[in-house]
Amino acid sequence: MRDEKNGIIYGGKITSVPTHMNCGRHFLECIRKGKSKLALIDGATDEKITYGELAQRIVNVASSLTRIGVKKGDVVGICSENRIEFLVTAFAIFCSGATVTFINSAYNKNELIHTVKISKPKFLFLSPNTYKSFYEILKSLNIAKDFTVFGISKNKDVRSFRDLSKKYIDINKYQPYDFNGEVQTALILYSSGTTGLPKGVKLTHRNLIIAGHQPPLCSNELNILSLAPWCNTVGIILTMKALKENQSIVYLNKFQEDLYLHCIQKYKVGILYAVPPLIVMLAKSRMLQNYDLSSVELMYCGGAPLDLAVMGEAKKRFPRLKHILQGYGMTETTGGITEENVSANREGSVGTIMDGNIVKVVDVETRKVLGPNQEGEICVKGDILFEGYIGKDMKDDMDEDGFYKTGDISYYDEDGYFYIVDRIKELIKYKAGQVAPSELEATLLQHPAVKDVGVVGLPDPLAGELPSAFVVKTPGSKVTEKELIDFVASKVSSWKQLRGGVRFVNEIPKTASGKILRRVLRDSLIKPPASK
Ligand code: AMP
Repeated sequence: MRDEKNGIIYGGKITSVPTHMNCGRHFLECIRKGKSKLALIDGATDEKITYGELAQRIVNVASSLTRIGVKKGDVVGICSENRIEFLVTAFAIFCSGATVTFINSAYNKNELIHTVKISKPKFLFLSPNTYKSFYEILKSLNIAKDFTVFGISKNKDVRSFRDLSKKYIDINKYQPYDFNGEVQTALILYSSGTTGLPKGVKLTHRNLIIAGHQPPLCSNELNILSLAPWCNTVGIILTMKALKENQSIVYLNKFQEDLYLHCIQKYKVGILYAVPPLIVMLAKSRMLQNYDLSSVELMYCGGAPLDLAVMGEAKKRFPRLKHILQGYGMTETTGGITEENVSANREGSVGTIMDGNIVKVVDVETRKVLGPNQEGEICVKGDILFEGYIGKDMKDDMDEDGFYKTGDISYYDEDGYFYIVDRIKELIKYKAGQVAPSELEATLLQHPAVKDVGVVGLPDPLAGELPSAFVVKTPGSKVTEKELIDFVASKVSSWKQLRGGVRFVNEIPKTASGKILRRVLRDSLIKPPASK
């Protein structure tokens, strides 16, 4: 609905949802309904769990969490690849009344420390892999005092997850912690927002219930294949929504072309959850003809812009594909702001406003509210808007009417379909993963040969953008591009590396107040350097 007078657009009203409760209770009730239907399947190992078993394990673990002292107000961290225990633990933490935070298992040491210092988890759950790489570092930080490892622990100071989950609890008698979920933080994720270093984004129980409530995209009889890590917004929100709808989800932890296609065939997958680089792969792969992909009816893509030509190519290669639908949103909005649906598929659009959201598009300079077909910054408020960042006030992020400024440039047509056209915030998206320029700039400034630096994204058809640095050398320095690329590679995760190269310049263009003029830097990125 559009308010013609004020130019504000309203998504559908949310009425029949219990937004006041513990989201753990809500999701547990929905999960129980799936009974003997398969909930999760590990596509690499074929390990499976039904909805009934999932609900039982959540309850077993939730009650053990309470027994070991986890309570409302505590932050409990999970640092693991996608695996069944990850979700069991997350829902159990909600039920226990504590707050969960997901720490990316692909982080390196510095990123891990930065994150843990933000959310300060008292209890930590690790996978065998992250135990191996991170336990000693985490212990030395002296923030978390209680560690559990998924599976069996050989360390007497670290609990085995098996011991937490084995005590049977009667699910009919179990009561999740009761409180007003509208104001309780359920989940902390990490995002750099429109500027600066990654920050802790606080999402409430209400945010998660509303995000999970959005109308399903299609029949719940279709199996889903998902690659997205659950530590990220797109991954966890879509997964929670699918579990609420009792859909069967095949998940994978890393992309391997043949295994991915094999899973589609083996599990007769109907829906692919994708980010744009995966659609690019599907549009180009030579392996497609070796597999029966006739079960695929729908692809759902979000997290970054999807090229129309790529979308067209991918469509041609799946015999029974009906739609590639796009969604647009961000961590700060619990995932979704807009979403396409099957009845109104408009090419290039990211769909209409999702239920519970209120949106306006404003002129970037004057902040005047714009009408249809006029490009401006999209601003949002409503039920999915986060509670706030940990330790940072929101005065620069919100306008005077309580709308969050997304930093994305968009317009909508006469029928309320949105189109994302540009990004004015600093954020770089490499294969839909966040890269904060400030983080790379701070890293480069640690190098003695770097006097000043500005980092921006170089447009790339496969990855979306490649992080690229403009560097002013310290006088007399002979540092090379390769040395700086290697230096950054040694300090940040793989997706943040300087794949767009380094350009040496005499100065970094800045405003009078000293802010980097990123637009000027971006415009000067005419062609990628040879080192890409
Ligand atoms: P994140 O918080 O990591 O999900 O990143 C959110 C940002 O990703 C948004 O503010 C957009 O800049 C970008 N984004 C997400 N979905 C889309 C989309 N469908 N099209 C274009 N950009 C998108």
